[in-house]
Amino acid sequence: MKDLEKLWHAQNLLTEYTKLEEKEKRESNFDSLKEEKNALETRMKAYKEKKQHHNALDKDLKAKEMDYKEISDKLADHKKELYDGENNNPKELQNIEQQIDSTKQELDNNEERVLKLTEEQEILSDNLTKKKKELQEGRTSYEKQVKQYLKRKAKTKRKLVGLMKEYQRLIDEVDPDLVKRYERKKRSLGNTAVAIVQEQTCSGCRVDISPVVLKEIRHQELAYCENCGRLLFFKD
Ligand SMILES: [Zn+2]
Repeated sequence: MKDLEKLWHAQNLLTEYTKLEEKEKRESNFDSLKEEKNALETRMKAYKEKKQHHNALDKDLKAKEMDYKEISDKLADHKKELYDGENNNPKELQNIEQQIDSTKQELDNNEERVLKLTEEQEILSDNLTKKKKELQEGRTSYEKQVKQYLKRKAKTKRKLVGLMKEYQRLIDEVDPDLVKRYERKKRSLGNTAVAIVQEQTCSGCRVDISPVVLKEIRHQELAYCENCGRLLFFKD
């Protein structure tokens, strides 16, 4: 392979490298993954808050159940006092009856509260179970996507390293003086410093090449496109 052809191949590899890098940037779902992670964390926080509320309800309920027992005992004591016949004072007996009534009311109120709390807790409990399952599913899906993302990134990286290696290998095989010229042209023309002669036109700018320059190229001399300044060569 002639030196210019090597450079031409090398610049194609560089183009491929740039395209792959851009494609990776374009198609990478890093931002959406980040958003998903934030959303998951917000949901997790909400779940924890609900769970805390559930635990508070639980505590409240247990306290109310204890109260219920205490009030029941109090009621039993009052009843015993009323019926054991030891107290014959009508005023005191009336007082005990009143206490029994108010204790019964207290017991009813407590019972009602316990029922309400139980109901609230059951609804919350179902909700928490559902939310937990959803969170687990969300987490699994997120982790799967992260895995795919990393795998893809590693694969692209391997490809990029391979392309760069091959590029360097070709450059190393070319006469250093020519490489210097090529690098200079590359700075002004970008990654198309070397062009092919296609039907007597320059593949870089599509302008006809003069017979003088064509002759130079045929004689394997270093020739530049008179229009765009690219290095020209015939590709076999
Ligand atoms: Zn040209």
